[in-house]
Amino acid sequence: MYGLSAQDLQIQARARTFADELIPYEVTAELNGGELPRDVVAAHAARARELGLHSANMPESLGGGGCTSLQQVLIQEQAGRVTNALAWSAATPPSWLPAVATQYQLDAFVVPAIRGDREECYAITEEGAGSDVDAIEATARRDGEDYVLNGEKWHVTSYNSADFAFFQGKLAGGEHDGEHAMFLVDLPSPGVTVVRTPAYSHTISHHHPIVAFTDVRVPASHLVGAEGDGMSFAYEWFRFERLMVAARCLGAAGRLTEEMTAFSTERRVQGRPIAEFGAIAAMLADSLTELFAARSLTYETARAIDAGADVKVQHAQCSMAKLYASEMAGRVADRAVQVFGGRGYMRENVAERFFRELRVERIWEGTSEVQRAIIADQMVKRGPRSLA
Ligand SMILES: Cc1cc2nc3c(=O)[nH]c(=O)nc-3n(C[C@H](O)[C@H](O)[C@H](O)COP(=O)(O)OP(=O)(O)OC[C@H]3O[C@@H](n4cnc5c(N)ncnc54)[C@H](O)[C@@H]3O)c2cc1C
Repeated sequence: MYGLSAQDLQIQARARTFADELIPYEVTAELNGGELPRDVVAAHAARARELGLHSANMPESLGGGGCTSLQQVLIQEQAGRVTNALAWSAATPPSWLPAVATQYQLDAFVVPAIRGDREECYAITEEGAGSDVDAIEATARRDGEDYVLNGEKWHVTSYNSADFAFFQGKLAGGEHDGEHAMFLVDLPSPGVTVVRTPAYSHTISHHHPIVAFTDVRVPASHLVGAEGDGMSFAYEWFRFERLMVAARCLGAAGRLTEEMTAFSTERRVQGRPIAEFGAIAAMLADSLTELFAARSLTYETARAIDAGADVKVQHAQCSMAKLYASEMAGRVADRAVQVFGGRGYMRENVAERFFRELRVERIWEGTSEVQRAIIADQMVKRGPRSLA
């Protein structure tokens, strides 16, 4: 099915093995604030590397997996079958970075991240700037051989485990005054402090604190690319992440449809398996039908990227994949809770966990409303037939 090559199927099988090994740890993580013992976390990270799943998106020349977009989707789809972010150990450092990184940045940040020795986080969103990234107020001012960074960043995912951050700010002064620039900031660094760590709906070990950057000095060698380049990196990252969000949503919905089918054939009410009740059967059928549609869309989008489709078409198609797959997975999780009945409301049940965890897939990396705006904009500019 889906015309996958022998190599694609082999990568998919390795990723499925990894996900199956992680699943038994989910409930322990859920009931312990997302945390697992350190040795278990280290073993999972080592296993991801052993199976060739860590940095699968990065170039082989730097030690990465060199996977195609379709193969990355296949890996992330399996990762998406696991709750509590346990599969984040198969990390994906930013694939746009090697092309613009200096030798120093490759040696100090990129290659160690690919090896799994360093971990990044992204400090872009602010209290007043989420969907509209251009509204950020954080600043970067050149001072001799350094830049001085100021700003307060929200939802900085994985700050508690990262040892460097991508910081996006607007240049204050100089030839590119007001334009965006991105910097690498070692963590910890003087002037970088946690304002607070809010609780979120999901139960994962990666926190999303609000982080203040106050007169943080970084050498000019930590500027990524050139002054004024900041936004182009964000767009490239969005394309990649939106496709991977779609992939993980396929995995979540796939697992839920399997779990729903198994439960509804075993669970008997009034002497009959509940799958025989029309209302339950409809929920099963709708879920698999929508999953099939979302998977076809997501795989096709990945194939178009691998075939070198126009970058604007890629952008719109990644938005379509994220929009449809994330909304599909949300509907499937809602139905799964219903099919499980009271069990579906228990945190030890996979449907309950996905019901909470999948909600953010419609928000981060651009909300559903933003994806619709991107798609409609490209439809108007290029015509629907160029996109689908
Ligand atoms: C758990 C979590 C982790 C995150 N991790 C990170 C991270 O690591 N780094 C980082 O930088 N950011 C991160 N984010 C931020 C995330 O990307 C933003 O929350 C998201 O882009 C939405 O921005 P916002 O929250 O400011 O919502 P807003 O932009 O305030 O949007 C509010 C509402 O208005 C709607 N809206 C906004 N613009 C439009 C429009 N043009 N048309 C129609 N409707 C619109 C939105 O869809 C939404 O419904 C994270 C967020 C969460 C929840």
